[in-house]
Amino acid sequence: AHPEDHPPAKQRIYTKDKTRIRLFANINLLNDLETARKMHCSGVGLYRTEFPFIIRSDFPSEQEQYIGYRKLVRAMRKKPVVFRTLDIGGDKILSYYQDVHEQNPTMGMRSIRFSLQNQRVFVKQIRAILRAGKNANLHIMFPMISSIDEFLQAKQIVRTTSEIMTSENVPHNENPKLGIMVELPSVVHLMEEFVQHADFFSIGTNDLVQFMLAVDRTNETVSNFYLPHHPAVLRSIHHVVKVATEHKKSVSLCGDMAHNPHYIPFLLGIGLRGLSVDPVYVPRVQQAIENTDLTHARQLAKELLAQHDTKTIANKLGIRD
Ligand code: PEP
Ligand code: MG
Repeated sequence: AHPEDHPPAKQRIYTKDKTRIRLFANINLLNDLETARKMHCSGVGLYRTEFPFIIRSDFPSEQEQYIGYRKLVRAMRKKPVVFRTLDIGGDKILSYYQDVHEQNPTMGMRSIRFSLQNQRVFVKQIRAILRAGKNANLHIMFPMISSIDEFLQAKQIVRTTSEIMTSENVPHNENPKLGIMVELPSVVHLMEEFVQHADFFSIGTNDLVQFMLAVDRTNETVSNFYLPHHPAVLRSIHHVVKVATEHKKSVSLCGDMAHNPHYIPFLLGIGLRGLSVDPVYVPRVQQAIENTDLTHARQLAKELLAQHDTKTIANKLGIRD
């Protein structure tokens, strides 16, 4: 047997009043896997595939990607694994790919836009993921989706790639779940349509806050304006969770908000049942979940959603504004 094939210990996490919450791991590099397994996560909620690309000096081949992806899949056994396709650009630059000089790369040719424009790179990655995900609980997620068209185009590429692989007799996962990051404000307003096309959603608050409030997440000068508890952000998250849940689509939150215990009662109170965090935060988040009583959390969420100023919200959440 493969040494990584030992089943991890089972451990479920419940709120005080016994509602199950799924806690997933965010993985950047495969080194994080060991911690994730020790922490008994429900799976990988976000594998940031760009990290192995960033630390190299050229594009990895399909086979090189496959080997890394396979390790991840094996380690997680049958638990869900969410592969997020390349999210480069912005603060994540590839040294070997400097095609364009951009005034503002954060809003430039990045992420899913890059993948759709560089389809050879994209298809290579999709092939590696589909091969690695055979017989696994495979989820593929596209970052920085801004419109339905873009998502349908990405989905079509996955479908076509799978058909070609079938015709080549390449063993692979022919039926991965396909979902999106909710990290651009435009998606919040299109949720009713997205639920018709996406299998799952993951809310990326790091970028959602950045783009909703026009505050660079890397700029310390404006960090006072970077407010995850801004009423527009809270209401957006609520809307996304509500629409997804109503349509029985799975939704979790993988931004840094998920590991801040102050936000957890609100997030559970609006009906969120999945959180994805860096493995080191698992014990802290688990504790916060176990301390949460959903009746109180729902009441708190209702109060917060009725507020319009950040100071009041911050006070109610017990955070400094
Ligand atoms: C996010 O935007 O919240 C997110 C989880 O993705 P990243 O931090 O990789 O941009
Ligand atoms: Mg993001």
